[in-house]
Amino acid sequence: MDLHGCFSFWFGFGFLLFCGFNRVTFGDQDGFLSLSCGGTMSFVDSSNISWQSDSSYVSTGNTTTVDFIEGASSSSVSVRFFPDSQRRKCYRLPVKNVSSLVLVRTQFVYRNYDGHGKPPAFSVSLGTAITTTVNLTSLDPWTEEFIWPVNKDILPLCLQSIPKGGFPVISSLEVRPLPHWSLQEVAWKISRISCLGNVIESIVVTQMAPCSTLWIRMIVYGTAMKIIPPLHLSAGFNNQLSFNLSSLQESPPSTVLQTARVLARKDVLTYNFPLDVLGDYYMVLYFAGILPVSPSFDVLINGDVMQSNYTVKSSELSALYFTRKGIKNLNITLKNVSFYPQVNAIEVYEIVDIPVESSSTTVSALQVIQQSTGLDLGWQDDPCSPTPWDHIGCEGSLVTSLELSDINLRSINPTFGDLLDLKTLDLHNTSLAGEIQSLGSLQELEKLNLSFNELTSFGSDLENLISLQILDLQNNSLNGIVPDSLGELKDLHLLNLENNKLQGTLPESLNRESLDVRTSGNLCLSFSISSCNDVPNNPSIETPQVTVFTKKKHNGPNLVPIILGAVGGVILALFVISLAVFLYTRKNRTEVTYTARAGAEMRNWNAARVFSYKEIKAATNNFKEVIGRGSFGSVYLGKLPDGKLVAVKVRFDKTQLGADSFINEVYLLSQIRHQNLVSLEGFCQESKQQILVYEYLPGGSLADNLYGASSKNVTLSWVRRLKIAVDAAKGLDYLHNGSSPRIIHRDVKCSNILLDMEMNAKVCDFGLSKQVTQADATHVTTVVKGTAGYLDPEYYSTQQLTEKSDVYSFGVVLLELICGREPLSHSGTPDSFNLVLWAKPYLQAGAFEIVDESLKGTFDVESMRKAALVASRSVERDASQRPTIAVVLAELKEAYSIQLSHLASTGHVS
Ligand code: ATP
Repeated sequence: MDLHGCFSFWFGFGFLLFCGFNRVTFGDQDGFLSLSCGGTMSFVDSSNISWQSDSSYVSTGNTTTVDFIEGASSSSVSVRFFPDSQRRKCYRLPVKNVSSLVLVRTQFVYRNYDGHGKPPAFSVSLGTAITTTVNLTSLDPWTEEFIWPVNKDILPLCLQSIPKGGFPVISSLEVRPLPHWSLQEVAWKISRISCLGNVIESIVVTQMAPCSTLWIRMIVYGTAMKIIPPLHLSAGFNNQLSFNLSSLQESPPSTVLQTARVLARKDVLTYNFPLDVLGDYYMVLYFAGILPVSPSFDVLINGDVMQSNYTVKSSELSALYFTRKGIKNLNITLKNVSFYPQVNAIEVYEIVDIPVESSSTTVSALQVIQQSTGLDLGWQDDPCSPTPWDHIGCEGSLVTSLELSDINLRSINPTFGDLLDLKTLDLHNTSLAGEIQSLGSLQELEKLNLSFNELTSFGSDLENLISLQILDLQNNSLNGIVPDSLGELKDLHLLNLENNKLQGTLPESLNRESLDVRTSGNLCLSFSISSCNDVPNNPSIETPQVTVFTKKKHNGPNLVPIILGAVGGVILALFVISLAVFLYTRKNRTEVTYTARAGAEMRNWNAARVFSYKEIKAATNNFKEVIGRGSFGSVYLGKLPDGKLVAVKVRFDKTQLGADSFINEVYLLSQIRHQNLVSLEGFCQESKQQILVYEYLPGGSLADNLYGASSKNVTLSWVRRLKIAVDAAKGLDYLHNGSSPRIIHRDVKCSNILLDMEMNAKVCDFGLSKQVTQADATHVTTVVKGTAGYLDPEYYSTQQLTEKSDVYSFGVVLLELICGREPLSHSGTPDSFNLVLWAKPYLQAGAFEIVDESLKGTFDVESMRKAALVASRSVERDASQRPTIAVVLAELKEAYSIQLSHLASTGHVS
């Protein structure tokens, strides 16, 4: 310690108690997370902090230990290093209280663990911000501390290598909750120093009670900290004094204020701080009037007078706050005016701007797109910040370019249309087939590259791309003529149509100087009429796609024509009925009469009853009790005049179908009667209402029973789960193989399996088309029919629906029954995010540690093995590898009976 001209004082504050370390206990570690990176064991340190291995919070990296010699003592420290870190490597830290601040402390240690003698340098990001570059050549170990605002339950902390920087390495990571502050967009990176001996002291968390756990903890574990015992001042003017701390925004601890640097003989007291980076800094200077006199001095920052003739009044506590932008070095000078310059503590903060996150619609659309590629593109957390994901370009938080060439997409996923800020979309060589679609909403799109695909038709979306400048459609199979509407795209300056099957005259509107139209390699395509012979002026009309119902399969010769004929027949019949209804409605213009008429026609269909709106109102007691809500609208409890309870589903206006589609569905549903399918009691189409009346299932949905409030009291036993699975599989088996026409459910999930009083399960929501608009689509229910987490990846990529898509979704339900967790989880490690990806390898290997905790010790291993195996086979990526629902049912029945025998042999009742 340099004592030249320096006096140190000890001072005791009346109400700032000094908390001796020995007295401190850490009983309340709520929200504390202490990770020993690369460590394998949990342990409690001498400060009673519980440390655990980091392996649950990061999915990559290698681990090793390093000898750590500090003075006379040596210890072994575990580290995790990341040899392949082109992409950022992230810890996903759970945060208990969203919208709060946390303190994150990281330590990086190299100490030549690899024997190469080359300490690495790498960047560290928190959330969406790159916070620092760690350079272990200049300091090893290197500690970083951040106070960070969190707005999600997961805070990613990522390491990313820099060119020639070597492998990122980390040794420990701690998260501590902080009290509620509002730093909003700004995070503070702390580096505080005490004036005593110019050593870096502990950090002090402001606005904490001085004796709180957190503050004590900071003092205890600052490894770069040296607490130099304060000198005792001669008695006489210490203990009686007290300071009004409420006058300060921050409350430094007594240990810091007990000491001061005072220059008795020199005029100028100077501190030079080399700062990490060029940036914006905020600093606080604390002054405690511990001298009998009141010294005055000027305060200069980098040579500029910030405060002249500042007086530290005896017995008073004060502080000065400054912000300096764009500085790399910090010089703080106190220049004497009277008596001597003094300062008790200095704090320097770097101000880090946190980039705004991309919109959640964008993030979920990209996640759906990633899933549709079938590849792990490493897309996690925010697409733009701290650095853009691979294949993506950003302007601020907006995703403005997406380049996904040379992979297998097969069709343009509707979620591309959610990326509203795209200026560039490059999907060349992605096996796209059929019509150009789903892009009409991209009004900012300037460059669209769909070349080298198998597209056959222009579709009608292109004309809406009003900002389009470059449209590359070369090397596709586009046929027919070039639509006039392309000429409407005023900014278009390159239209490449080479090597397609186009013919006819090009629209005159494309014949302008500013536009380069390339047409070679087509059948006959030019602006001149004479150079092409007669070709139709209208593109051929596409046949509509029918994917939902097919006729029941029979063994024998190819039945496709018969099936198509039958489907056509059904469609024709429905069309005739719909048309009759439509004409009738137009003619009569009274909805009640319409209902009566439609009802008369439809009473023959099956048991479905036609209700008037008045009857529905009476049954539901004017829509009094809501029993559930889905994407179609609310579901109400109703009671029919005969006392039968019903569930009444009312469609929102925007989810309503045309009258024909609605009647189509009602017709279909009314055909289906099976003990494991929720039956349709009737319907109402009146007063702009479309209402479906179902039998009421009082036991709630399987989702409610697994995850809802009731699951807290009663957990479903393994045998119950198997019985539910068997019931639901029976229902699906009937849809696939028993009903006529055969039905693909398209939205099998836990919330569509309902339970009756005896816990028998029935499948609901089959045969319903979902016309969710893009604006309505959330990240759960996507515009692709079905629900995220349950969607068959092959259906995504091919858009061709088969029964195997239902098998996949049902496989996910089985995994939920086994593991007791939802298909997508936003907490936990990245590799546990998706239930299928997480659970499948364990279950295939017969490793049952991931079985629902509440089932442990209650199941027969063989029964579980059977169920686990059929669940994992059902979620095979390749649909042809999945069993049929009939096979799934047979396996589940076996698993169920094994478990029943097990219970009987152990004397348990189910
Ligand atoms: P989505 O519409 O997104 O597929 P969902 O399947 O949960 O979701 P709905 O089918 O509209 O939506 O059902 C909403 C909720 O209403 C269900 O989760 C269930 O709790 C309740 N519900 C639906 N039908 C019945 C019924 N027949 N008997 C009892 N409750 C029902």
